[in-house]
Amino acid sequence: MTPVDDKFFHKVRITQRVDFAPDLWMIRVRVPAEFSFVPGQYATLALEREGDGKLTQRPYSIVSAPWEDELEFFIELVPDGLLTPRLYRLQPGDELWMRKNPKGKFTLDTESGRKHHLLVSTVTGVAPFVSYVRSLAKDWREGRFDGVHQLYLLNGASRPWEFGYKEELNRFDAELPWFKYVPTVSRPWDHADWPGEIGRADDILRKYADHWELDPTNTTTYLCGHPDMIANSKAILKRRGFLDRESIKEEIYWIPPR
Ligand SMILES: Cc1cc2nc3c(=O)[nH]c(=O)nc-3n(C[C@H](O)[C@H](O)[C@H](O)COP(=O)(O)OP(=O)(O)OC[C@H]3O[C@@H](n4cnc5c(N)ncnc54)[C@H](O)[C@@H]3O)c2cc1C
Repeated sequence: MTPVDDKFFHKVRITQRVDFAPDLWMIRVRVPAEFSFVPGQYATLALEREGDGKLTQRPYSIVSAPWEDELEFFIELVPDGLLTPRLYRLQPGDELWMRKNPKGKFTLDTESGRKHHLLVSTVTGVAPFVSYVRSLAKDWREGRFDGVHQLYLLNGASRPWEFGYKEELNRFDAELPWFKYVPTVSRPWDHADWPGEIGRADDILRKYADHWELDPTNTTTYLCGHPDMIANSKAILKRRGFLDRESIKEEIYWIPPR
């Protein structure tokens, strides 16, 4: 057995689990020590492999805001995957490993001068954006953020129950003058009662960019989740003049098999 090096890993305990769908759930974990991160960053979760004890590690975007006392993750089960079927079996009280350092640069652009932020995601790709909004919402209520940055979130899913954070994001949309949220469903024929937008996130990108008057001079775009959504959205954005590398940020969750 290879012992886990606690110089690099915390052992964290699950405090809460909510299942949104048979293959989508969230967990909250308590971290035993200081863990500073910026909204948009990810943590690396890991479990020891049976047999040799080596760690299977994967990155997960952090849903929670830095002010929360626990970390939250929104996870999709990949049935043939190495880690998620094992994470799926964990319940409150169970423990797992987490790297001590958060990582990633998928953070809100407050440097370029562009004040509009178009956030485009598929299913669990909404995770870093929930962290942005939770974080700014607290700053707004407590007078540390004046609303100068405007956030517009498109979240695509096949079916309505895949929107793990819809209620919370709708409440933010109603409360916060600087935040708009549009969930969109790509298989509406199974859900005649779905009242919202129809199509994939990249299908409705042009319409909403026009509606909100977002262009490369005033907007940074963030693409998170499914690799096809990211490739399609990038092509659309490039045709609309988003040519500067800094104006499109991306977090690709997996590489499709060739
Ligand atoms: C920066 C970053 C942040 C991430 N954040 C999240 C997050 O917040 N929530 C989350 O659920 N995942 C997230 N991921 C994906 C996550 O790291 C794992 O890749 C995923 O959970 C699958 O792990 P696994 O070991 O079960 O599957 P693996 O054994 O790694 O993969 C098996 C096969 O499935 C493919 N695959 C991986 N993920 C998917 C998927 N979702 N749908 C279809 N095919 C897939 C892989 O390409 C591979 O071919 C993130 C990835 C990155 C790079």
